[in-house]
Amino acid sequence: MIDFKHVTLEYPVTRTLALDDLTMHVGKGEFVYLVGHSGAGKSSFMNLVLKRALPTRGEVRIAGEALSRYRGRRTPLLRRRIGTVFQDNLLLDHLNAYDNVAFALRVIGVPQRDWPSRVTLALRTVGLEHKKYALPVQLSLGEQQRVAIARAIVSNPPLLLADEPTGNLDPDNSREVLKVLQNVNLRGTTVVVATHARELVETFRHRTLTLRKGKLVRDDPHGGYSL
Ligand code: ADP
Ligand code: ADP
Repeated sequence: MIDFKHVTLEYPVTRTLALDDLTMHVGKGEFVYLVGHSGAGKSSFMNLVLKRALPTRGEVRIAGEALSRYRGRRTPLLRRRIGTVFQDNLLLDHLNAYDNVAFALRVIGVPQRDWPSRVTLALRTVGLEHKKYALPVQLSLGEQQRVAIARAIVSNPPLLLADEPTGNLDPDNSREVLKVLQNVNLRGTTVVVATHARELVETFRHRTLTLRKGKLVRDDPHGGYSL
């Protein structure tokens, strides 16, 4: 699903080496954590996968296709196949949970008659079918994050990237969000979670990649957290 071959990302001007000769593979259907201190290169990794940044050297492939082949108007097609969840979920305040999720279908031009079944299924996957009429302000931060996950998966992306998805959440809500991400993975989506949340990584064990100063320093098939 994700292939990095000798990928180096050096930011211009400051010449910061954000990723240094990174080679890695994430298979279809995997659940993978990306851990590392602040500045280790986790967000840079995500930005490369989304083609928000271009490698200085090396090659990134998604689902077997080199990102250099997604040019111009094809770049949105790539992003459409990748769901994203961030620390700040940015739901639309004036729309309820259902409409926030449906909005993602409107953006990609899914016919309106298909929205109810798809939105309902996405909300069910995150355990919030009963909150579909709630506005974001009526939901806890954890519930808001689960709506954001529903919005990210309603288009059925084969890949979901989550960057510090529990960064603003207390331990209980964090565990709920992790369970939801595992559910999404069980339905066949490849999931990559960049996180600092040691307790979660040690509780819900999955393959864990550790970055340090832009280099991959560990790849533990059964997880564990050691920076
Ligand atoms: P894909 O069909 O996406 O190319 P692969 O056939 O390469 O997937 O991978 C098959 C399985 O091998 C994956 O589900 C994954 O769990 C495992 N795997 C692949 N690479 C690694 C790795 N470097 N470390 C641990 N497990 C891996
Ligand atoms: P992480 O997500 O693990 O905290 P990042 O990928 O954000 O790490 O950062 C990796 C390195 O690249 C850091 O040294 C950071 O300061 C630098 N960096 C990140 N974004 C930029 C940018 N847009 N311009 C210049 N340097 C950047």
